[in-house]
Amino acid sequence: MSFATGLLCRECGATYSSEARYSCDFCFGPLEVDYDLDAARGVLTRESIASGPNSIWRYGALLPDPGVEPVDLGAGWTPLRRSTRLADVLGVRDLWLKDDTRNPTGSFKDRVVSVALSSARRLGFTTAACASTGNLATSVAAHAASIGWPSVTIIPADLEKSKIAMAAIFGGTVLGVEGNYDDVNRLCVELVAEHADWAFVNVNLRPYYAEGSKTLSFEICEQLGWRTPDQVVVPLASGSQFTKVAKGFKQFIELGIVDGPAPVLFGAQASGCSPIASAFASGAEVVTPQRPNTIARSLAIGNPADGPYVLDELRAYGGDCGSVPDSEILECIGLLAETEGIFAETAGGVTIASLRQMINRGTIDRDKSIVAIISGHGLKTLDAIVDTATVSSTITPSLEAAEEALRFHQLVAAS
Ligand SMILES: *Cc1c(COP(=O)(O)O)cnc(C)c1O
Ligand SMILES: [Zn+2]
Repeated sequence: MSFATGLLCRECGATYSSEARYSCDFCFGPLEVDYDLDAARGVLTRESIASGPNSIWRYGALLPDPGVEPVDLGAGWTPLRRSTRLADVLGVRDLWLKDDTRNPTGSFKDRVVSVALSSARRLGFTTAACASTGNLATSVAAHAASIGWPSVTIIPADLEKSKIAMAAIFGGTVLGVEGNYDDVNRLCVELVAEHADWAFVNVNLRPYYAEGSKTLSFEICEQLGWRTPDQVVVPLASGSQFTKVAKGFKQFIELGIVDGPAPVLFGAQASGCSPIASAFASGAEVVTPQRPNTIARSLAIGNPADGPYVLDELRAYGGDCGSVPDSEILECIGLLAETEGIFAETAGGVTIASLRQMINRGTIDRDKSIVAIISGHGLKTLDAIVDTATVSSTITPSLEAAEEALRFHQLVAAS
């Protein structure tokens, strides 16, 4: 069962039933799913959660539509790995990596899609759709395929080839738009008006979709032995993941399920698309849209829907927001792989490079615990590294040539 009660306007507090609605009739503000935490207190326990499935659905009581049979490819319950080698390089004491590369389609988007389509099915929808920077399209197409729904996923036409292939392989309709994500999103808002019976997971299903990100904080707490971490670094595209990670920690604290205070949250952006980092640094109240130009395509949203809410959270707890150039994103994909054996996509490079930047400028405390969210698999952005991650040497198939190359790479002593 779920303790969800309905929808709540994030601006004026108006309430609605759990219907297919995403903006407020009174103020046009965005809506979010609300819960009766008083009813959940004492009923939802560490034990009841731990007896659930090894997926996001162990937290079904705090998701909108767990139902009897959620739309589920097994998203979530990904490893939280203690870092030793990367922690040494960065000079920090207690670093953990939330390895969300390990989701069914290789990104954290499986969490939000599993939740959104479960709600969509209850609400009577029969077609899945989305506006995507790549990973969402793949996840929507895969989850839709698993329940036999048609899907319509809309992406910028010039995305990485590997991401387009991953979206297309599930057999849905993929529309490549000649434009950037912000053009795609605008188009999808128009399409929702024309096709109200399509579940655009991040447009008309957005309140439900967003809830899936809370499972990141729930898992982090449970995996740390029911304690909150001190600091968490979250990559930012629309900012949805960030705001719901914040909500997840607050809900667990309010329920008394977890020990410790709310962590300080930190954002991570590429400098080629850093509207939130720029607003944060300049003290602005509003986020000024940017035209994205970065290899971190999955985070390339120039006009982030949740930007103002991210700014509020960053300022409430004394957080900070990194902004890192493409060269450091590539370098940190390599650093993470070489120190920890985790192959992340460009968004993971943004998280690690931002983590390093904020440690170096002293806003992240080296002595307190840190969790960094690695949100997508490196196979999704092979294009970014294929020209630099190559064979060390090409040799003829002879022992002599092999030995010479090994001497060159200093694996055996020169004779
Ligand atoms: C979508 C995405 C994010 C964050 O997206 P939000 O819109 O901020 O919720 C982070 N990392 C990856 C790899 C993504 O695909
Ligand atoms: Zn309102």
